[in-house]
Amino acid sequence: MPTQKNNNCITVFPGGSQLFKELRWRDNKKQCIRCENTVIYTLSTGRLRCKICGLTFGDFTGTYLGQLNIPVNDIAHLLYLFSLGLPIYRCRHYLTISMKTAHKAYTLFRRAIYDNLVQAFYDILNEKQDIAGSIVSPRAVDFIKPWEGVKEFVYFGIIIIDGAVYTFPVAGEDINKYITDIKNIVRTPALYRTDSGYCIGALPLSGSHLVITKIRSETENYRVSRKIRRYWAYLADQLYHYHGIDTQHYHLYIKEIEYRFNNRAKDIFHPIAEMLVKPMVKHELILPAGK
Ligand SMILES: [Zn+2]
Repeated sequence: MPTQKNNNCITVFPGGSQLFKELRWRDNKKQCIRCENTVIYTLSTGRLRCKICGLTFGDFTGTYLGQLNIPVNDIAHLLYLFSLGLPIYRCRHYLTISMKTAHKAYTLFRRAIYDNLVQAFYDILNEKQDIAGSIVSPRAVDFIKPWEGVKEFVYFGIIIIDGAVYTFPVAGEDINKYITDIKNIVRTPALYRTDSGYCIGALPLSGSHLVITKIRSETENYRVSRKIRRYWAYLADQLYHYHGIDTQHYHLYIKEIEYRFNNRAKDIFHPIAEMLVKPMVKHELILPAGK
């Protein structure tokens, strides 16, 4: 265990709390989270009170960040480690909180990324009806249900739109239609091309965990575009380093890795920090239009 003194040395974000507050309240414009009134008092405790409806709330009440009961500076430190792509087990010597709490924070970061990316995907499908028609119809892409897992594999769709990779759940019928050789393939990640311009990725399951035992830098399937093959190699590499993923959460990891891949040359600490101070999305609100 690190000593307290060491802990102080490795808390690298003493200004984390201020950073998150500035992101939460742009130009210090505070707003009631219930009635949206903008006349807000700050109480001596640091909590906020609405002049109109009298609601008392904290800076991060109702946001992703508000779900975590740990000091905000510690969250900033964790987010820094997360941004660098370090799994919890590798940063355990540099944490000031328990591994369990750190896991909870990482899951929340992933949830925030997931919700943002699902919304972005719906936005682009609304814009590009032709693509939406080929991958959504006749079944709406449903991000709320668990992504499909069949016969010791989990499956998801992969498509490139405007140069960016998007992943999404695919319906069981599509899996059965395109993946007929599942009994014969070795238990490594595999990629299939559909007729609708997207690919289906298959990842092997071991019990209730995804286990990537072998990195395949290239799929042999050259009918698949180069960009998807690059993404696929990146995904396998990232999953390998995560050492097995609970299938309850795998969709969060897939979306996280999609985000990292699309932004691999960029700073992701600040964009994720911005996602964390947004009001937490209720999943029923991000169902596709018409559902
Ligand atoms: Zn109010």
